[in-house]
Formats: sequence, structure tokens, C-alpha cells
Amino acid sequence: MRGVGAKAFRGGEYLGVRIPTIFDENDSIRCEGCGGLITEVPFRISIMDFVAVEVPPSWARGAPVNPGPHQFHADPECFRGWAKRKGYYLCRLSDVREIMRPVPLPAEAPLWGLCDGLHRQSHEFVPA
Ligand SMILES: [Zn+2]
Ligand SMILES: [Zn+2]
Repeated sequence: MRGVGAKAFRGGEYLGVRIPTIFDENDSIRCEGCGGLITEVPFRISIMDFVAVEVPPSWARGAPVNPGPHQFHADPECFRGWAKRKGYYLCRLSDVREIMRPVPLPAEAPLWGLCDGLHRQSHEFVPA
């Protein structure tokens, strides 16, 4: 999962939709990944399904994904550390982006995979 440069974190626009980033409240923002203070502009990730609202399986209702936005350092490892603690899976074909799509995985316990949804192949989820 390494090798994704900070470039993948920039943006501010997604599919023609402007993603607002707030710049004036970064005095005491802590990274949800590593817990450290964020002294620069936080990188915000929202977990939301921007394509279609699918009816989740019944087992998923008790453990919804907090859509955020979650704030991190501009380092994919911070996001991945957070996802790992939460027990989420990450799609190997996905970059870390400002909007990640939650995908319910078939399992006994509620499991979520996160993907940017920008590839056409089947997801390849691996533990974060
Ligand atoms: Zn961090
Ligand atoms: Zn995927």
C-alpha cells in the first residue's frame, strides 16, 4: 500500500464537485490516525457513498461507518493507521482520497471495506 505520494491527497475537486476545506480552525486539530497535532491544513476524508444508496445487509445496521469528515495529516499512513484500528479493509486498487466509499463485506461480523470507487475491476480488499 505504500508508494502513494502526497499528490494523491491534494485535490479539492472531485468529479467536478468542489470539496470544501476549512482553513481557519487548525489551531488544535489532532490527526485521527497518529494522534499528533496537525499544524498545517488537515486532510479530511469523508466516508460516504456518493454513487447510490444501497440497502445494507441487516448485519451492517448495528455498525455504521462514521462518515466524518475525519481529519488526518497529509500522509496516507495516518489514514491507514486509523482504518487499521477501526478494523476496516482497504481496496488495493484504491488511492486514499477525500471521499472514500464504504463497501460492506460478507462476513460474520460487520466488516467494511473502503475504496475510492474509481476502478472498474472487482475490489481487492485487504486488512488496513
Ligand atoms: Zn497523523
Ligand atoms: Zn476498490
